[in-house]
Amino acid sequence: MKFRCTCGHVVRDQRNSLPYKARLIPDEDGDADFSSFAKVLEAFLMAREAGKQKEFLGSYFGEGYPQELALQNIIDDLLAKEIDLFTRFIYECEKCGRIFFEKHPEEAKLVSYVPEGESRGVLQSHRRRPKKEPS
Ligand SMILES: [Zn+2]
Repeated sequence: MKFRCTCGHVVRDQRNSLPYKARLIPDEDGDADFSSFAKVLEAFLMAREAGKQKEFLGSYFGEGYPQELALQNIIDDLLAKEIDLFTRFIYECEKCGRIFFEKHPEEAKLVSYVPEGESRGVLQSHRRRPKKEPS
C-alpha cells in the first residue's frame, strides 16, 4: 500500500524492514500478546502430538497453508498471525516527519500528527543484535 502525505511525499509500504514504519500495541492489549500466543501454541502442540497437525494448520491458516514447513517456520507464522490481531501500524513521513497512525486495523483509515521539533527517524530500529538471517 502507499499513501500521499499532506506535504506531497508518497509514503510507500511495499517491502519489509521499513525504517519509517512500526507496530503499535495498545497498552490495554499489553497482556494479550503472550497469553493468546501461548493458547495458540498449546493448541498446535496438542494437535501435533495427536497426529492432527495437518488438520490444525488447515483450519488455522486455511487449506492452502504449506504442510512441509519446518517447525520453526510454523511457530513463526503462528506468532506473526497472533501479533497481527492486536497490533496496528504507524508510519513516519520521511520528508516532513508527520506521524500516521492506523486508527482501526480493519479500516484503512490513517490519522496524522505533525511534529513540533526537528527530530526525525523516530521509528527506526535501535536493535543492537545482528540482523536476522534471511529465511
Ligand atoms: Zn510529509
